[in-house]
Amino acid sequence: MARSFNDPGQHFDPKGQRCGRERSPSAPRYDHYTIAWICALYIEMAAARAILDEIHEVRPKGFEDTNSYVLGNIKGHNIVIACLPVGQYGTNNAATVATNLKRTFPGIHIGLMVGIGGGVPSKADIRLGDVVVGTKVVQFDLGKIMGDGKFERTAIPKTPDQLLGTTIAKLRSKHEYEPSRALSILQQSLITRPDSEYNQPSTPDQLFQATYEHRSQLPNCNDCDQSRLISRGERVPKTITIHYGAIASGNQVMRHGTTRDNIARELDTICFEMEAAGLMNVLPFLPIRGICDYSDSHKTKEWQKYAAATAAAYARELIEELPMAEDQKSACSASSVWTPSSTPEDKLFNSFHNSGGGVMNVNTGSGTQNNNNGGGNQFSGAIHTLHLAR
Ligand SMILES: [Zn+2]
Repeated sequence: MARSFNDPGQHFDPKGQRCGRERSPSAPRYDHYTIAWICALYIEMAAARAILDEIHEVRPKGFEDTNSYVLGNIKGHNIVIACLPVGQYGTNNAATVATNLKRTFPGIHIGLMVGIGGGVPSKADIRLGDVVVGTKVVQFDLGKIMGDGKFERTAIPKTPDQLLGTTIAKLRSKHEYEPSRALSILQQSLITRPDSEYNQPSTPDQLFQATYEHRSQLPNCNDCDQSRLISRGERVPKTITIHYGAIASGNQVMRHGTTRDNIARELDTICFEMEAAGLMNVLPFLPIRGICDYSDSHKTKEWQKYAAATAAAYARELIEELPMAEDQKSACSASSVWTPSSTPEDKLFNSFHNSGGGVMNVNTGSGTQNNNNGGGNQFSGAIHTLHLAR
């Protein structure tokens, strides 16, 4: 069986996970985590986990921090993944999660909000499964009601920080002559195994005219008027298209075609979502949104998992472009020093690293490690010993 990224369930000995009361020598110190990766939905967190190179043990944290974390690593960058509480979304909940995270992990200096969003097809040729990268965030529902009853928006647009901005520019320059690697990253990840719900769904990607409303009693669009569909050409070649532009963020779910287009025209936005505006008040987060619907009344959940996966794949591509600071390098090096032990309680386990674009073989037995740092199939042996907590 060939895989490119680590299987979180097989990454370290399950006993090591259960006995995580002591710090594992494999786990970096909390101040050595530099990237915050926030999700709003558990399906987004699942997609995030699936593309990590490594998953680290989570050690105890303060009671005041109510987040539940997944910790891991991509290409030497230590990453903290946190998800909003089940059933809760919006800018305020996102800000709370980010605030807790930043307090527990003081080394965080970059934030990514990775998940699904609704596209604005009147502003760009956006298709379901495409990714929108928010180079600007505008809170569309912040404002005041004026004397004439009109709503005046008062939010000030926010932009990601300098490092994220320059990294995006670098990646975009690369995409000027070669396609995004998001699709190949996705295809090599565990989450797109043959029977996975995170693969591209068979439900057709249909865009209806903005003025044509879905009848609420219909469970899907099978009986919607097909003559009101907007004709769009096929995407050739098949790939994940990345769009860069402003994102409208707010606490209201957008599911109305003409309102979508009016706000998008006013604010020059190409996507709607519900968390980035809250996060930007805590840290300069970059929203990365896989498009799962068109922010209109025809929206369904059919494309959500695939869109969550495409967003995660692009996020990985971007992280791979991030420069690593000297202190990160030393932290990464220190964290990879394993404590040998011969006591009975110690377990031998396998550690898998795949920092290249090639195929990786996963071995669930003991003693062999497969590293793939290049573009091909490479196997090199090394044995690490995890000193379990007692
Ligand atoms: Zn419909």
